[in-house]
Amino acid sequence: MARMVAPESGRRPTRALRRGQAPLYDGRNGPHRMEQGAVSDKAMSRDEYYMNIAMAVRKKANCLGRKVGAVIVRENRIISTGYNGTPEGMVNCTDGGCVRCRDRETYKASVGYDVCICVHAEQNALITAARFGNAVEDAIVYSTLRPCFDCTKAMLQARVTSIHYLHNWQHPIGELQDQYELLQKTLRGGVHQVAMHDPEADWANARVISVSGQ
Ligand SMILES: [Zn+2]
Ligand SMILES: [Zn+2]
Repeated sequence: MARMVAPESGRRPTRALRRGQAPLYDGRNGPHRMEQGAVSDKAMSRDEYYMNIAMAVRKKANCLGRKVGAVIVRENRIISTGYNGTPEGMVNCTDGGCVRCRDRETYKASVGYDVCICVHAEQNALITAARFGNAVEDAIVYSTLRPCFDCTKAMLQARVTSIHYLHNWQHPIGELQDQYELLQKTLRGGVHQVAMHDPEADWANARVISVSGQ
């Protein structure tokens, strides 16, 4: 027996569901109904939809520094995802695998990225796209953290069109921050902050100073 989704208001269209079929939300402005307590489809923009997925990807992040998740979107479809951590086959950063991340006294924030073996979320997403032959030209990158110099350079040269980020990132040195802004301005579609609540902001943005036993 088919059942109908109860309309929440007179304006909301109804849709018949087969038995056992869960109502889904796919990011478009369809008439799908979400479970109670979730953000309603009416309120959720595409930016929020993709950023929510980037936050889910971030849960796998394996770095003593900030936890970051990224998704690459092309023609309104996700073509790649990435989170930060040491390269495949190496000891995880959270298990002490990265010298630069575990010795924060020597390597302060925003310093020594060139000797950090952790791959950033945005670069992992770009690299995964390359690995499976997915073109990223004209794509949009959603990242839970504003991409660093290195990730921005990689995106520029891959001809990513724009960056949408959740948390801001700044270089502590003024003239380098100026150059960073200049670098990001070069992206054709620009760099935009997505204003939305991050329930795990404290966990994601905390830096672990040292690993016990290291
Ligand atoms: Zn790390
Ligand atoms: Zn980066």
